[in-house]
Amino acid sequence: MEEKNIGQFLTEIILMAAIFIGFIFVIFDLRGKFLIAQLLFFFLLIVLACPSLVGIYYNFRWGWLLITLVSALIILDEIFIYILHKSFGVVYLVSFAVALMGLIFSLVNVKPRKVHVMKVAEERIESLEKVEKAETPSKKRYVAKKSGKFYHKADCFMAKRLRSENQEWFGSMEEAASQGHKAHRCVK
Ligand SMILES: [Zn+2]
Repeated sequence: MEEKNIGQFLTEIILMAAIFIGFIFVIFDLRGKFLIAQLLFFFLLIVLACPSLVGIYYNFRWGWLLITLVSALIILDEIFIYILHKSFGVVYLVSFAVALMGLIFSLVNVKPRKVHVMKVAEERIESLEKVEKAETPSKKRYVAKKSGKFYHKADCFMAKRLRSENQEWFGSMEEAASQGHKAHRCVK
């Protein structure tokens, strides 16, 4: 789950409410079977919009994708209605403009997947670096197994095998030798 974005969520709710109200005004100018078909379409859009708002609340990409789809469907449908009837006034224009705004707003908020993946990867690298720093005492360059015979450079394959609880770190070769360790071949 990602961080929430209340401002964008509220903006999207207001936009969607305006779009749906505008859409209702447009379709209530219609008559007969076409009106019924448009009402069914309207309820389908509501069904799609509800889960997308949940997704947007938690700033999930799919939430923005779904609401983009809903806005695009409304715009296409309004174009379709216009082509059939060709006589709509201010209500139609306002409704169309609001739907277009909604589409643009949701498109802007659909983050490219690459950016999202890179952000996650960066966070992972940062946390790995933190772990490394915590495990390797600063400026200590040599490591031995506690009560082991040899000491190693930090990047030796043998050093990497030592469990952190068994590691003993030294700042210099002399320090390691004074503790009774011999230099492993990685040191020479
Ligand atoms: Zn070694």
